[in-house]
Amino acid sequence: MSLMKSWVTSANSPDTDFPLNNLPYGVFSTGADEARCGVAIGDQILDMAALEAAGIVSLGTEAVFDLPFWNDVMELGADAWSALRNRLLQLLASGAPEQSLVAPHLIAMTDAQLHMPVVVSEFTDFYASRHHATNVGTMFRGAQNALPPNWLHIPIGYNGRASTVVVSGTDIRRPMGQLMELDAAMPSFGPCKRLDIELEIGAIVGTSTEMGTRINVAQADAMIFGYVLLNDWSARDIQAWEYQPLGPFQAKAFATSISPWIVTPAALAPFRTSTPAREHELLPYLREDAPMLFDIDLAVDIQPQGGTAETIARTNYNEMYYSAAQQLTHHASSGCAMNAGDLLGSGTISGPEKHQCGSLLELSWGGKEPMTLANGDTRSFVEDGDTMTLRGHAQGDGYRVGFGTCSGTVLPAIVT
Ligand code: MN
Repeated sequence: MSLMKSWVTSANSPDTDFPLNNLPYGVFSTGADEARCGVAIGDQILDMAALEAAGIVSLGTEAVFDLPFWNDVMELGADAWSALRNRLLQLLASGAPEQSLVAPHLIAMTDAQLHMPVVVSEFTDFYASRHHATNVGTMFRGAQNALPPNWLHIPIGYNGRASTVVVSGTDIRRPMGQLMELDAAMPSFGPCKRLDIELEIGAIVGTSTEMGTRINVAQADAMIFGYVLLNDWSARDIQAWEYQPLGPFQAKAFATSISPWIVTPAALAPFRTSTPAREHELLPYLREDAPMLFDIDLAVDIQPQGGTAETIARTNYNEMYYSAAQQLTHHASSGCAMNAGDLLGSGTISGPEKHQCGSLLELSWGGKEPMTLANGDTRSFVEDGDTMTLRGHAQGDGYRVGFGTCSGTVLPAIVT
């Protein structure tokens, strides 16, 4: 696969996240306009509501783009998803006869505000990178018991909160919580002192399953509408005190950030790759008959207040032990109903090397090995005023399929 040329010239740059090959879906507004569906192309946004109103794009009789979410498009199903992509490829390709009709409906990204691209039905977060699970297990339980006995058999997850999933650019308030300080006799309530990020990929489920039914991995893969970057903000001190025996609760409930553009499986198709060799063969219901992971380069940047951004970690989505399709299959395996708009977090993505870790907990090894930033500051965890940014793209030959960024700036806790 190589760059597909567009008449939108900024989409032909090898550095843009949004060439014609990508066509990710978002929600935007300009000025006082209503938020509506848009597609990123180079440094522009294609106004889908305007295209629909002009009769240039249609997915049936109902208007589906004049809405501040993509859920209605999702619910039309996979045939509609591919029809939409094919129509957009046709309209935006170099030499398209429709260029003069479409061009008036492009809006400069710099003039637009981006919003949540979907109404998130429910949020489930997994724990599916072996290096991350091993690192965290080593810190919390010791090297002997690092990987729990179920880990190589089940994509472990917990039910998170959809109510606090926010779009990139939303400020994040440092949470308050119940903490057990080292050597304290009793717990206390106060601001989190070990605020962390988790670098993840979020999978957005596009179609539903009935309660009581199961799906196989291929069916699950076909149900995924797209992928976003996801930062599962985590309060490590609250988590360490509360997590046994039911897993994280308030430590994760206060905020989750996602990137504004939904990158489709169709755009990522050239970058499919397989999950790693299995130490134990998986049970038949979890077996994949095709590559279900993607080769996506990922990075974490930190920018202290008033300082410059620097990259503190680089890893790749291909480090996962379980794919999103396997996670979705497992999620529905008891008969749990899945809905359009469900968001599944991959789990923190860490590689084998220290600089490939997707959390500060691992990068600073639980605060024992603070990082030194370019401005001389040290960091074990996120400080007030820090802006944390996730970036990601799949690298093609002379082009990239990018996710844009997923950023959040941390504000001080409200203590009173
Ligand atoms: Mn997580």
